[in-house]
Amino acid sequence: MMLKTLLLHRTTTIHSLRCKFNTIPHREMTTGTQSIVSRLKSSGLLQTKGLIGGKWTDAYDGRTIEVNNPASGEVIASVACMGEKETKDAISSAYEAFGHWSKLTGSERSNRLRSWYNLLMEHKEELGELITLEQGKPLKEAIGEVGYGASFLEFFAEEAKRVYGDIIPSTLPDRRVLVIKQPVGVVAAITPWNFPLAMITRKVGPALACGCTVVIKPSEFTPLTALAAAELALQSGIPPGVLNVVMGDAPKIGNSLLESTQVRKITFTGSTAVGKKLMAGAAETVKKVSLELGGNAPCIVFDDADLEVALKGTLATKFRNSGQTCVCANRILVQEGIYEKFTSAFSNAVKDLKVGNGFSEGVVQGPLINEAAVQKVESFVQDAISKGAKVLAGGKRHSLGFTFYEPTIIGDVKNDMLIARQEVFGPVAPIIRFKTEEEAIQIANDTNAGLAAYLFTNSIKRSWRVSETLEYGIVGVNEGLVSTEVAPFGGYKQSGLGREGSKYGLDEYTEIKYICMGNLG
Ligand code: ADP
Repeated sequence: MMLKTLLLHRTTTIHSLRCKFNTIPHREMTTGTQSIVSRLKSSGLLQTKGLIGGKWTDAYDGRTIEVNNPASGEVIASVACMGEKETKDAISSAYEAFGHWSKLTGSERSNRLRSWYNLLMEHKEELGELITLEQGKPLKEAIGEVGYGASFLEFFAEEAKRVYGDIIPSTLPDRRVLVIKQPVGVVAAITPWNFPLAMITRKVGPALACGCTVVIKPSEFTPLTALAAAELALQSGIPPGVLNVVMGDAPKIGNSLLESTQVRKITFTGSTAVGKKLMAGAAETVKKVSLELGGNAPCIVFDDADLEVALKGTLATKFRNSGQTCVCANRILVQEGIYEKFTSAFSNAVKDLKVGNGFSEGVVQGPLINEAAVQKVESFVQDAISKGAKVLAGGKRHSLGFTFYEPTIIGDVKNDMLIARQEVFGPVAPIIRFKTEEEAIQIANDTNAGLAAYLFTNSIKRSWRVSETLEYGIVGVNEGLVSTEVAPFGGYKQSGLGREGSKYGLDEYTEIKYICMGNLG
């Protein structure tokens, strides 16, 4: 009961009555979209059912959810809208498959993961098209996500062979102290829509590498990429039941995953609000928890920065995926000596960013995910203007209408404005002026979030000093793009728990077992 109360909020408000919850008006497909969709269908990559125990499965009550192209509202597919029963069956399949999968050697699991990686790379273009169709990001960026997403499978295929233990010198002569790492068991992976592929592989790669099996619940906005990836996993020889996918009624699926004693780990990327609910829910069965939650990234440009490097880095971190990433700069702090120069060059650069449908040539800014996202951006901008901030570029919905918003720069922002307190998750760059390094650090750390931070300076001493003082899990120094499979990704404070990617990412899916061998004398 308690879990139900904790997670009730979204059940009643959004998902439960109708399996239809997108906020953009639905339209029929244009012929251009139809031809992409039919190509994807004939390649076998357009799957619309859930995957349970290796079988493509309809929702037991036959319900479906429409998936929209956020750039146009076109309905591109209808997928199974699942709930408790399907989730329970997916958990049972994963639990059963664990027995076999966890006993394979690291090298056998590595081979399967490597084949999956190869298949994702072979289908890079089609998967990219699928991402652009359901998520909106420009095709080039979408294909880039496929490479980035696949890199986690390659990396963890290699790491599968290196899940080392320890032998600890004993305090007694006739005793040996051994430590081995074992897979935690069935993993529930709940993922968001902003990186429909990479947020899955970043979790499933390490989980599978060390012998766990998984139930994935992708975002209902972007289930098609997850299903295509699952199809390629099957083709790569990953046995039935090792990887299952259910989607539909998020809180019902979430509750079933939380309540199950067979699910031993929950890994989530998404909003801080949902992450907190999942963490509270996981307490009932004391599951291992990893959370990648919201950020409020400061990007600090010091007077001594290289202007070109700072501009390039800030543009990249702010406007990637139209500002819809949790490591996007959310507050740009600029020192007073470089403020005018930086803001004017930044505003000019932003005016050149081409906005449009992600399939159109030269477009670098796609739509936002839905109408609610645009409304949120609008309200944050209005709040800032009403409190004295100034629009330096953009500042309103794009003339393309629909879910498009102009790349925007707002100057004279103060750290207590809504736009600096919460993640805007859109193409809006708020600029805060500061005088001293101490002031910049104080502003940067004045938030409950602590995921990524950036600083631009030519002083090596300042780089160290500021990096070590920022209360953030990731710091980019003279660099705006920091994500890579080889580095640990994760946040301080309310931005989450645990790390993804790198050798540290593997530990999130293992239990440590201490074996004491006594009386050996
Ligand atoms: P966003 O606002 O970015 O969509 P959410 O946290 O709402 O972020 O969504 C991230 C993921 O969490 C999605 O897969 C979504 O369906 C899922 N989700 C949302 N609410 C719940 C819930 N109550 N229980 C389990 N999963 C949920």
